[in-house]
Amino acid sequence: MRALTYHGTQDVRVDNVADPVLQHPQDILLRVTATAICGSDLHLYRGKVPGLKEGDILGHEFMGVVEEAGPAVTRVKRGDRVVIPFVIACGACYFCERQLFAGCETTNDGRGAILNKKDLRPGAAMFGYTHLYGGVPGGQAEFVRVPMANTGPIGVPDALSDPQVLFLSDILPTGYQAVLNAEVAPGTSVAIFGAGPVGLMSAACARLKGAEKIFIVDQHEERLRFAAEQYGAEPINFAKMDDPAQAIIEATQFRGVDASIDAVGFEAKGSAVETVLTTLKLEGSSGEVLRQAIAATRRGGIVSVPGVYAGFIHAFLFGDAFDKGLQFRMGQTHVQRYMPELLEYIGLGTLRPEAIVTHHLTLDEAARGYEMFDKKQDGCRKIILTPGM
Ligand code: NAD
Ligand code: ZN
Ligand code: ZN
Repeated sequence: MRALTYHGTQDVRVDNVADPVLQHPQDILLRVTATAICGSDLHLYRGKVPGLKEGDILGHEFMGVVEEAGPAVTRVKRGDRVVIPFVIACGACYFCERQLFAGCETTNDGRGAILNKKDLRPGAAMFGYTHLYGGVPGGQAEFVRVPMANTGPIGVPDALSDPQVLFLSDILPTGYQAVLNAEVAPGTSVAIFGAGPVGLMSAACARLKGAEKIFIVDQHEERLRFAAEQYGAEPINFAKMDDPAQAIIEATQFRGVDASIDAVGFEAKGSAVETVLTTLKLEGSSGEVLRQAIAATRRGGIVSVPGVYAGFIHAFLFGDAFDKGLQFRMGQTHVQRYMPELLEYIGLGTLRPEAIVTHHLTLDEAARGYEMFDKKQDGCRKIILTPGM
């Protein structure tokens, strides 16, 4: 079959690889009908996450039709059209019972996963996300083996198209969890850092939850304009000012917003600290967005972090966070928990995640898709790849 494979930093290729086969009674084999490129794939593409091997198949946002089901699979059957959550969870362990699916302690054996020399294992296995997270082949492919098929896949009605439901696999639940963590409710204010797909899904969900005021920070004018038009967010271009947090503070009677959402993560751009780290070839992240989120949030407020972090963070003003009595909430998304209610919202037309898609490419064009999404070329916001075309 054809699949998008990793060959090194900024080197991904669509190759012929072996077809996947069922390996466990609870596996299904999926024929992929649509798959997307995620900001999390860009961390891999840019060589920022260890644990990839040459030839690994990437991709964790995908859906398709069940080709074959193992003998212990009861939730779906051959021919069903399903969306797959990027988190692989058993549904039965200590964490799954508490609906903390991203913490599942049975799907990732954690081999080689010693983070920062502490004996901490990462959580659940994920598709196409390095050997730290189980080394499970991803779904930017014609076919993919889906383990734990009694916990992950969700059936979708024929009346809804692939682009309408595909983002149930990751970015929609991720924006939703960020907004729930931020306790967005009618009358509240929220500042979203990053107007990429995750920031935009956060804006959509903040609207859904009745936020009174939404600020959105980025440097890409097109993304900011889209957020303003679609979700009524107030755009703030950080490249045009010294400190976007200051603009947010001034617009909220000098108190700050009830909550901030960091939808950027450890690869935040545009700070002096980043320049110093790059110049001195130092490891770690500038922590620029965390610094701004702490500054922009009112006393007693919440900083919700869906953006991915890894390793050391510089310029993290913990003292300021303490002084303001802030709460921090973060982590990988417990996708399985939110899929059913989000599918209902899509069915009702209350959420239209497909609105953010700018490019439809074939799977064979995936390498160009990565480059375009990485460099934000051609107004690229979100790409859907279609295998077999
Ligand atoms: P993306 O790269 O398309 O978007 C990131 C956006 O942040 C870009 O528009 C960029 O211009 C902007 N940005 C960069 N520096 C900034 C700064 N200093 N201030 C404000 N904006 C800045 O990626 P995405 O798909 O939207 O993903 C965003 C983050 O969410 C990534 O870190 C991704 O790994 C993470 N993510 C987490 C989960 C989860 O389970 N928690 C799931 C999906 C994605
Ligand atoms: Zn993703
Ligand atoms: Zn589990």
